[in-house]
Amino acid sequence: MNPNYQLPDSQDSYGFGFLDEFAKREIRRVILKAISIPGYQTPYASREMPMGRGFGTGGLQLTLSMIGPDDTLKVIDQGSDDSVNAVNLRKFAELTCPEVSTTESTTGATLIQTRHRVPEIALREDQVLNLQVPYPDPLVIVEPSEAKRKIMHGEGDYARLLTKLYEDLVKFDEITISHRYPTRINGHYVIDPSPIPRYDVPRLHQSKALLLFGAGREKKIYAVPPYTNADPLVFDDVPFRTESFDTADGQRRACARCGSTNSFLDELNLEDGSKAWQCSDTDYCNRQSARTDAGEVTQ
Ligand SMILES: [Zn+2]
Repeated sequence: MNPNYQLPDSQDSYGFGFLDEFAKREIRRVILKAISIPGYQTPYASREMPMGRGFGTGGLQLTLSMIGPDDTLKVIDQGSDDSVNAVNLRKFAELTCPEVSTTESTTGATLIQTRHRVPEIALREDQVLNLQVPYPDPLVIVEPSEAKRKIMHGEGDYARLLTKLYEDLVKFDEITISHRYPTRINGHYVIDPSPIPRYDVPRLHQSKALLLFGAGREKKIYAVPPYTNADPLVFDDVPFRTESFDTADGQRRACARCGSTNSFLDELNLEDGSKAWQCSDTDYCNRQSARTDAGEVTQ
């Protein structure tokens, strides 16, 4: 962010990045604190945004407080650049940050705001991923009192969460959490990594990019700094498992569009009643399709 940036005259009524400078400064300070204590849910004064809470206001406040005219922003929702949530948030950023360019390319972006996915293409050190978070506290399913949850987090006491996972194993023979899988950061705090699929959880581990989590309604920001351990909560004798895209005979399904066999797939119901599978990450799928068209081998 360039501190000498002057607002263009026509945008005076909005102010660059919509939020006032005091709000942006406070959020940036909270981000620094969150980075300093990996996984700690840092409270902040979440601002009213011109959209309902639950539509990504936490992620958006992170983005708007960090973005500068030199940034290139990508916004995705479930891996797609074209879904309603992503399009609206991108339009809002374009309106309030007039000099910022936007992109659909994962590699071309400096700042990526996302809902429910981590991009397939590995992120770099010069990129930041802002995740929109509906529920920041993984302990909320076992303890209703926030004061007690804070003590449990402070003491690293996740016994009740582990009991919940164990009950799952007893009842269903496996841990049934599909999204928001509790993940221990830097050996201490357990976070709710937002509703990303289990498939994306290993990407948080030793990520080169800074990962920030913003919960607007719950007024919390937390971080997984670059090169930090992120370990899904498991038992020694029950390894962590990601979603399986294998067919009944053990073949890994391929994306119907690009043919990739190592991406997270969405299941589609076709008009004739059959099913098809396609990459959830649009940019990745487009890249793979282009490579296939060029005659390169898809993997
Ligand atoms: Zn694909």
